[in-house]
Amino acid sequence: MRSLAVMLAILFASLWPANASAATRDRYAFNVTLDVDSAIASVRQRITFTNRADVPLDMIEMLVPAVPSGAFHLRGARVGGRTASASVAGAGLRLSGLDPIARGVETTVELEYDVRVPRPGSIRLGRQGETLVFGSWYAALFPLDPGGWRTHAYTEDGDAFVADSIDVEFNLLIDRDVTLVAPGLPVAAGSGRVFSTRVSGARDYAFVVGPRLSRAEGQVGATQVVAHGRAGDEGLTRAVARATTEYASWLSQRIGPLPHDRVDIVTVWSARPDQVGQEYDRIVFLNRAQAAEAIPLGSYFSYLIAHEVTHFWFHGLVGSDPVREPWLDEALATYLPERFFSETNPDIGASRLATLRRRVGADASRIGTIPIDTPLPTFADENTYFAIVYRRGAAFLDDLWKSTGDATFWRAMRDYVERSRGRIATAAEFHAAFDRAAAANLSPVRARYLRGAAITSIAGDDGRFFDETGGFTVSNAEGIPFWDEFRALGGVDALGYPVSRRFTLDGFTVQAFQKAILQWRPEVRRAYFVNVLDRLSQAGQDDWLLVHRMTPRPSDSSPDTGLAWERVVARRQAMLDIDPTLRSAYFAVPNSIDRYGLPVSAADVGNAIVVRCQRAVLQRWKTDVPWARAGQVTIANAGDLAKEAGLLPSAAVVSERRA
Ligand SMILES: [Zn+2]
Repeated sequence: MRSLAVMLAILFASLWPANASAATRDRYAFNVTLDVDSAIASVRQRITFTNRADVPLDMIEMLVPAVPSGAFHLRGARVGGRTASASVAGAGLRLSGLDPIARGVETTVELEYDVRVPRPGSIRLGRQGETLVFGSWYAALFPLDPGGWRTHAYTEDGDAFVADSIDVEFNLLIDRDVTLVAPGLPVAAGSGRVFSTRVSGARDYAFVVGPRLSRAEGQVGATQVVAHGRAGDEGLTRAVARATTEYASWLSQRIGPLPHDRVDIVTVWSARPDQVGQEYDRIVFLNRAQAAEAIPLGSYFSYLIAHEVTHFWFHGLVGSDPVREPWLDEALATYLPERFFSETNPDIGASRLATLRRRVGADASRIGTIPIDTPLPTFADENTYFAIVYRRGAAFLDDLWKSTGDATFWRAMRDYVERSRGRIATAAEFHAAFDRAAAANLSPVRARYLRGAAITSIAGDDGRFFDETGGFTVSNAEGIPFWDEFRALGGVDALGYPVSRRFTLDGFTVQAFQKAILQWRPEVRRAYFVNVLDRLSQAGQDDWLLVHRMTPRPSDSSPDTGLAWERVVARRQAMLDIDPTLRSAYFAVPNSIDRYGLPVSAADVGNAIVVRCQRAVLQRWKTDVPWARAGQVTIANAGDLAKEAGLLPSAAVVSERRA
């Protein structure tokens, strides 16, 4: 045992080269010693990552879903080789007391901890008998945005994990004879030995350790499909392998194959009946309680298998943010199986889709038509979450399929997969793929289901003339893709119509829209939002804003002096506490700081609560006004304010409309 541990330590130390080249993906190395009898895993974990944010980091923010179940016991943490202080709140693990990590600098995070697998635990981390399910078991960095860590709360409802694609090195020492199912490793039984593997481009890393398991195989192109179940469940396991292979073959033909040597589908056990299945990268779990020995096409279990298998593509291969945009993978995992059923057996397909539509109708009369692109934390309960994100999301995709036609639908899907694989994709990318593929105007369908309502749809790819606000073109001319950026940022609903031509501001090409001014940054090939409100302040317009536009003056910013960026952000964002509705509206958009900037001041102005940010003004109305109902949040038209205040050059606001 001891010599094996030493061997493992040497192996662990030698596998990563000392001078690793600047890899784009974070690297996670795990050194796990598992005591099967006590169900305790001793873990040494090392993460090597580069600060991709625009700001220095003086804290490391991680998500550890094993904390709330009491399974995670930290023994020590080091960052850059130095001891860090660790604090745990919710499922968050924060390491502080570091030398700030400069932008672009690579560093290492080393953790030592025990995972005490709870009994029975959950389908994500739990045990029944000798079978141990390691789903959400380790500490993962939150993704990095330009402004710093994109943290979020963890909930048991939904899939509150947002994960960048990583490279994994996994070393496992097991003290006795077991069967191990783990990505990158041959399915094998072994005693007192080390299993080692590396997996590139993984969304996460999950595995199962059990006694003898039943096993059945299939093949989809170059990918081996292996189903696993309890010993004695041989018939069921064969049926799962067959159903998985059929569905994965069908989906591969439509949206492209999985780039994996093998995928595993494991029937495990969960005490919670609502935990019907759980997706991880290259491995998914099904709850044995949902299983049926025969799996007729269109049965619930056949759907559940297809749903989880869809997540091999939309979760593993194409990531998304299941906290802010949970529909993006779940609606696809709910709807694509319906296309499979419809093509394989039109009668079964039609009957299932009719049932789905009836349920969506019943949901709507019970809870109203909540937009499908509502963030996870906003849902009151799990039933509403499933009704909107899964079922109503599937109805949206079905309407999209009907609007585009079958061939265009799959062309757009394949395009989306190709462009977004290996990343955390956004709904804007999904919509853009459909705009590229479809000749039809998709705005009416989107307006029925999406919060952002109509994202502008166009026939061509290079721009559009808007007549609505005097007549200005948004285009991709001269290598500056404002048109692509405008659509990716949410189009008319997010930014309003254009209110100027392009012009030059501080040496950058910019264009004003009703709600914002976009600035093209060639060095990062992205559009940034101009700090319109700060500029109005510099131009001496604070009194005008206060008297005529109900916008409070900026508050004193001197308390920010000398504070680390995270503390400045925390102090400013605390201004949102003036109103919980405004606070949720601010955080409801992806990358709130990019979009709105930091809060500058907040005030109750009589008929509204107002938060002034650097780039936008958020208002929550207390009484009905002509443009909003009481309780509604509106975003003031910052671009219009700049235009009214004379901040835009006069030549830039001359209409392009032909005389
Ligand atoms: Zn799902």
